[in-house]
Amino acid sequence: MAHHDRARPPGSPASPADRHSTPELDAIHRALVDAVNDYAIFAMDATGHILTWNAGARKLKGYEKEEIVGRHFSIFYPPAAVASGHPQWELETAVAEGRYEEEGWRIRKDGSRFWANVLITPVLENGVVTGFAKVTRDLTERKRNEEELRRSEERFRLLVQSVKDYGIFMLDPNGFIASWNEGAQRIKGYTADEIVGRHFSTFYPPEDVAADKPGMELRVAAQVGSFEDEGWRVRKDGTLFWGNVVITALRAGDGTLIGYAKVTRDLTDRRAAELKAIEDARRVAEAESANRAKSEFLAAMSHELRTPLNAIGGYTDLLAAGIHGPLTEAQQTSLTRIRVSQQHLLGLINDILNFSRMEAGQLQYDIQPIPLSAAVENVLAMVEVQAAAREITLEHVGADANIRVLADEAKLEQILLNLLTNAIKFTPVGGRVSVQSVRRGDEVKIDVADNGIGIAADKLEAVFEPFVQVGRSLTSAHEGTGLGLAISRDLARAMAGDLTARSALDEGSTFTVTLPAAD
Ligand code: ADP
Repeated sequence: MAHHDRARPPGSPASPADRHSTPELDAIHRALVDAVNDYAIFAMDATGHILTWNAGARKLKGYEKEEIVGRHFSIFYPPAAVASGHPQWELETAVAEGRYEEEGWRIRKDGSRFWANVLITPVLENGVVTGFAKVTRDLTERKRNEEELRRSEERFRLLVQSVKDYGIFMLDPNGFIASWNEGAQRIKGYTADEIVGRHFSTFYPPEDVAADKPGMELRVAAQVGSFEDEGWRVRKDGTLFWGNVVITALRAGDGTLIGYAKVTRDLTDRRAAELKAIEDARRVAEAESANRAKSEFLAAMSHELRTPLNAIGGYTDLLAAGIHGPLTEAQQTSLTRIRVSQQHLLGLINDILNFSRMEAGQLQYDIQPIPLSAAVENVLAMVEVQAAAREITLEHVGADANIRVLADEAKLEQILLNLLTNAIKFTPVGGRVSVQSVRRGDEVKIDVADNGIGIAADKLEAVFEPFVQVGRSLTSAHEGTGLGLAISRDLARAMAGDLTARSALDEGSTFTVTLPAAD
């Protein structure tokens, strides 16, 4: 209400908050108040009975002036407020404190409720309360908006609260924890009670704290809006987890920093999987390069060894041919022994070379239909002398000139030679070695069997590994590299076949080469 400074004669009726009126001004005031549409403005007597009623009051509360003047203002209050004497208390408080203001629910004529801002001012005359001025505003709309906002904030809070996979919490502008959700509890192990109010650097390893990483993260977030990081963080129990962390600065409408939102994900499992993948890849690469290095070394060494061995063979032949004069019988015998040893050594080295070439994938295969029994006869001829030396009987069982296999002839003979040499080597003097071929559907099976020392069941697969020799010792009577079976199996498989074994200790062994039939 406007004030002005003209005095009014004492004893004339007071208009609220105006003790200096003139009749003209009173009229203007009344017109003004009457016309106000958005505020209910009315006067009450000292006991709270309504004296005046303006357009805003009519609009807001729904009563016509004639209906309401003379009624008590508690008519606007919900029954509970009336029952508790609230309207009367408002008047008393207004008198005691010079004014009373509140917000609360009020009732319209039609019974509907509205959210009111109420201001009650006592009117005093010579220190005595003569009445009250009451201004009421309808804030239902604002209240509804606030309510809606509060509800949506509450919904959001509950949502954040219940998120389990992400730690979501708030920091104040100094980095102290202001809220906590279930995900944060799950990831970090603290309950809200334990952690709210503590500084978020609690989650960082000591070295990060010493380097003020937490402080740096907040400064960056404040400067550019947000900060994202991945790194080790500390749980309540002291264990580490690999966290993805996003810190977002929160600013009020006027730009002042009100804190930070922090979202943390536990990526420990993902990190472990990543590290494992890296480690696996490294191991594979290492193994590959170690293998390559081994093959290259074997190839180089074999080559270096063959050169002098060939020289030994060549000069032995020259001596044996009598090029430096005739030889005694004893000299001839010695030369023969040198020659046999040289041949043997050369054979071993060829094995190694073959194997390393095969490892390096350098062998060429010339696959043709091969008459099998002819190939077997060829190889049997090569081992005849060895077998005879140990009085071992060689048999070619059920030779069938019609059987042809698809193979590289030289490699097939290499396999058979290796199997027969082994059979003779590992069979005691006077034993028996046989080769037997049979066609089964699209395949041909070639058994090389002996009645020798046999192989223990638990070693039967190992003998196909490179460099494995069963029962090998420094005093072993059997020589070899332990490569023959490994090479033979690789050769057989490279020709779409296989090499397998069955054996019984002290009874003998049977090695079976399988190859595709040619027709
Ligand atoms: P090497 O004959 O050069 O030692 P192999 O790879 O040909 O290498 O054979 C590996 C091992 O398998 C032999 O050292 C031997 O212990 C065992 N073995 C191979 N053939 C037979 C066989 N016919 N009887 C018993 N043991 C055998």
